[in-house]
Amino acid sequence: DQYVRINKYLALCGVASRREADRLVEAGKVMINGQVVTGPGVKVVPGHDEVVVGGRMLALPEEKKVYILLNKPKNVITTNRDERRRETVLDLIRVPERVFPVGRLDRKSTGLLLLTNDGELAHRLMHPSSGVEKEYLATLDRPFAEKELGQLTGGMRLKDTGEKILPCRAKILGDGLQVLVSLHEGKNHQVRRMFRSLGYEVKKLDRVSYAGLRPGKLRRGEWRFLRPKEVAELQ
Ligand code: URA
Repeated sequence: DQYVRINKYLALCGVASRREADRLVEAGKVMINGQVVTGPGVKVVPGHDEVVVGGRMLALPEEKKVYILLNKPKNVITTNRDERRRETVLDLIRVPERVFPVGRLDRKSTGLLLLTNDGELAHRLMHPSSGVEKEYLATLDRPFAEKELGQLTGGMRLKDTGEKILPCRAKILGDGLQVLVSLHEGKNHQVRRMFRSLGYEVKKLDRVSYAGLRPGKLRRGEWRFLRPKEVAELQ
């Protein structure tokens, strides 16, 4: 879990070996949250507890920034932790860094999801003003009527809450059961609610593009690190 023994924490911060750290603790040289500790078994939560040794506040060495593209399968939830212990996107990705999802996809939705430990970039991408383009392939319960396309794309009002959304692009595919929708914002369940507002049910929803990234060879449940060039393009 998140607790780390004080000697291990000192070693991780590059202050001393674990043995030397034990001696520093015994000698009363270590303060946790303003109090001198002397017991070797004391534990701390990195990034939360303030540990001071010889007047210097410690910090873990900065983690390497990682950027991961996941092709999310159905029935996996986009969150860091689930109280009901359902499978989350983090269960699919095993990396030592503490990554988190940038935005979210509904449990039933599939497709591209970015995960990273780069808080700054994540924050920027999730901000409405970032204008990141997200493209969704929606499969409907009945063919979409061409004459309603203008309503879908013209900056509609969502029926359930009355919220107004930005104009967007959409393209009807083949027999009309599938529509490709391209958004620059991301309200909760937005695509499903847009179609529901016009009397359609979204049966399947797949995010086929995120900020220009596409699945390529990534199958459902698979992930890969972004290439440096792709990371640069997100910045
Ligand atoms: N819009 C939705 O309705 N669901 C998603 O998962 C993403 C966008």
